[in-house]
Amino acid sequence: MLSLIQTPPSSLNRPSETSAAKAHERTRLFGIEIDPLTMSQAVSRVLDWVKEAPTKCQIVVTPNVDHIVQLQTNSGLQQAYRQAGLVLADGWPVVTAAGWLGKPLPERVPGSDLVPAIFQAAPTRGTGTGEASKLRVFLLGAAPGVADRAASKIHAQWPGVEVVGTYSPPLGFEKSAAECDEILARIDAVQPEVLVLGLGAPKQELWAAKFQDRLTARVALCVGATIDFLAGEKKRAPRWMQSLKLEWLHRMLSEPKRLAKRYWHDACVFPKVVWTEFCQRSAR
Ligand code: UDP
Repeated sequence: MLSLIQTPPSSLNRPSETSAAKAHERTRLFGIEIDPLTMSQAVSRVLDWVKEAPTKCQIVVTPNVDHIVQLQTNSGLQQAYRQAGLVLADGWPVVTAAGWLGKPLPERVPGSDLVPAIFQAAPTRGTGTGEASKLRVFLLGAAPGVADRAASKIHAQWPGVEVVGTYSPPLGFEKSAAECDEILARIDAVQPEVLVLGLGAPKQELWAAKFQDRLTARVALCVGATIDFLAGEKKRAPRWMQSLKLEWLHRMLSEPKRLAKRYWHDACVFPKVVWTEFCQRSAR
């Protein structure tokens, strides 16, 4: 049974003191609030937060079809989304369905494109003092060694970015208070501006939300396999597949055991979510 989530707009976590918070109304869809931003607006928003140092770490989530399906029943993920400062539509089905439902979103902002775009834009940010400073980044997640390989590639490609720490937490880390304390201490010790969380969904969103008050990074990006992509550990779909909207097929074929069942389930449930939303809108 599908139940669309009720999210009071007043519960949104948006830092009133930052210029980044002024810009736009969120779009309410599928029981969540989505920020209708372009990639370049999202990059500016993140770099504004880096510059302005909001009082609380700002969580960025990127809903795809799987998130929307999980959000129908996962109250912890619903709460994490309510705590997010930015909710960016990752998948083209989400953007397409939004258009059908009369709530157009300007474009997809996939997490795995957002991170390189932030790195690319980082050197042009103002520091307030006129000095050039590197963007301080911590990579949390992926298999042992992968984040270090990603760090080397990041340093080679984006000299304006400094990876100040990496960590691959052991399996089941999220259930151990001591391990979570250890991770928070590692992050705190190097004071990154941006925390890249590559732990898969919903683990990364739940973890960031649970420890939001203790995260000393200014922004936490929940971006799935992005660390793998940056390291070259996993390959993004070729451009032609992306332009034919077949990136999902590429990912499924690269990890069929893990993803085929999930994609099948999502393909069955997501149209029902869209239909429910359509009926609710028509009834209003
Ligand atoms: N991962 C991790 N720790 C965990 C679970 C997953 O570091 O406890 C990493 C995994 O190594 C991979 C990423 O999370 O790098 C999974 O990203 P993906 O986007 O494939 O996850 P999804 O959200 O699709 O499950």
